[in-house]
Amino acid sequence: MIAAGEVIERPASVVKELVENALDAGATEISVEIRGGGVEQIRVADNGYGIPHDEVELAFQRFATSKLSDASDLDAIPTLGFRGEALPSIASVARLSVVTRHADDDSGTRLEITEGRIVDRQRQGASPGTAMTVRQLFRNVPARRKFLRTTATETSHIQNMVTRYALAYPEVRFALDTGNSSLLTPGSGSLREAIAAIHGLNVAENMLDISVVDERSGQSTVGGVISQPALSRANRGYMSFFVNRRWVQSRMLGYALEQAYHGFLKERRYPLAVVNITIDYDQVDVNVHPSKTEVRFRSGDRVFSAIQQAVRQTLTAHSPVPEIRRAG
Ligand code: ADP
Ligand code: MG
Repeated sequence: MIAAGEVIERPASVVKELVENALDAGATEISVEIRGGGVEQIRVADNGYGIPHDEVELAFQRFATSKLSDASDLDAIPTLGFRGEALPSIASVARLSVVTRHADDDSGTRLEITEGRIVDRQRQGASPGTAMTVRQLFRNVPARRKFLRTTATETSHIQNMVTRYALAYPEVRFALDTGNSSLLTPGSGSLREAIAAIHGLNVAENMLDISVVDERSGQSTVGGVISQPALSRANRGYMSFFVNRRWVQSRMLGYALEQAYHGFLKERRYPLAVVNITIDYDQVDVNVHPSKTEVRFRSGDRVFSAIQQAVRQTLTAHSPVPEIRRAG
């Protein structure tokens, strides 16, 4: 039912999967430490539920997930993971060590896996939560290693990945240590404070709130922040979209946002934005691709116009007369 696929393309994919697991485990603190652009080492530690002693090995078996109990659960997926592919995939292309302790267990478990095989398993004292360390990524996969870029590039992919989750989960305290730089978000629940930690105070202060509330349910369907027209960037890398708190890549959503800025920004200038879309689980399919960053909306045009409406409303209220007129 769930097609197998390549989940791990580069170090940032490992970070993504481990961070998603930490978030699914209810962590409020997640620390990511990388060395050598993540190829040498990636360590993700969380204070989430942990894995019970007798389930640790199971977690590394292909398609073993604790997050779905029935195929019908696929119609409404509230967790970031659900395919049970990440850990076995990572473990097959690296040396992985996990120390985890479930809150109900009185000690933790340490498991060492090298290229898919368990090489060591012991009980170990640990505080509740999970720490996964991945070393020598792709050492046994020369084809993958060839596609890796410089340490600086792989590091920046990881920084972007952590940044996205820090924006989507402002209530979680994220720490990132790349060996040369560090990032720490306050975990206060305030999106603006997370933005200040990531992009600086000036950016945070120049963002405008957006909001569309569904009239029937009274619930917010589009929220987040967008930059004032005076604040823009030369590329699209500062626009992030989250659907039910999952980071997604979508041309359609990007286009909706850019179009709404038409007349407010010069050509080839792009806004900064964090757009949170809340939608009924049955209105969106996330099981499109193994990386789960693609989504299919049941009625995409409604989402499109909700974003446009939210952005347009905010921009117009902020500056009723666009400074740059539509050409022609
Ligand atoms: P999925 O996330 O799709 O379920 P994974 O391979 O990423 O699959 O993880 C397998 C299982 O291992 C999860 O379903 C979960 O039960 C457990 N697990 C993995 N990481 C953590 C973590 N950080 N904290 C608690 N449990 C975890
Ligand atoms: Mg997972």
